[in-house]
Amino acid sequence: MGILIQDVSKNFGSFLALDQVNLDIQSGSLVALLGPSGSGKSTLLRLIAGLEAPDQGEIYLTGENATQVRVQERNIGFVFQHYALFKHMTIRKNIAFPLEIRKVPKPQVRERVEQLLELVQLQGLGDRYPAQLSGGQRQRIALARALAVQPKVLLLDEPFGALDAKVRKELRAWLRHLHDEVHVTTVFVTHDQEEAMEVADEIVVMNNGRVEQVGTASEIYDQPASSFVMSFIGPVN
Ligand code: ADP
Ligand code: MG
Repeated sequence: MGILIQDVSKNFGSFLALDQVNLDIQSGSLVALLGPSGSGKSTLLRLIAGLEAPDQGEIYLTGENATQVRVQERNIGFVFQHYALFKHMTIRKNIAFPLEIRKVPKPQVRERVEQLLELVQLQGLGDRYPAQLSGGQRQRIALARALAVQPKVLLLDEPFGALDAKVRKELRAWLRHLHDEVHVTTVFVTHDQEEAMEVADEIVVMNNGRVEQVGTASEIYDQPASSFVMSFIGPVN
């Protein structure tokens, strides 16, 4: 499912958090929203998720006017930086939860949970509790849970932001690998240029609520659209 964002603006009081954003995200792609703190990345993600409504403009999923579709019907997976797993539930229970509230039959739930554990390469940890896992493992479980309902779109807001540098690096490669297997349209927010460049098919550079440039890592790096992009992307070593 692709995402088409047309002339979307969002105000908080008199503050313009998003200023006429246009974006066309191809179905099955892995896109990074890259920009400094306060540039509107999370706001844009929340609008795509339907957690908030734009003041102006439209967001379409597969050509359907998303503003007219209830969020629950969109089938969107969301992972936040501090996406808490349910502490009192085992890993298996955590992943099963979104399926159980949708009344998926038990044998199917069991099968799907095992598939997901395998997908995130954490087979064998299903009976543990979140506190018994590392931060990186917990975020992989959060991803498995987000993928449980086979979302059409996966939204990740700084999913690795709370982890240390080494684990972050591992998870980047892992996310790329996961996406290559699942092919779900994925938009992930980061302020880490290396992360964006390493993981994403396409990078959307944001600044002051505007989209400054869209392109592949090499396009943006070779031909920065503005001095801002140049200063933000800078030389990558
Ligand atoms: P980013 O994720 O790029 O750091 P955000 O989208 O979270 O940026 O925020 C963009 C701007 O909008 C920030 O200046 C922030 O303070 C403001 N903002 C975001 N959400 C709200 C809100 N609910 N109420 C008021 N201001 C907000
Ligand atoms: Mg943010």
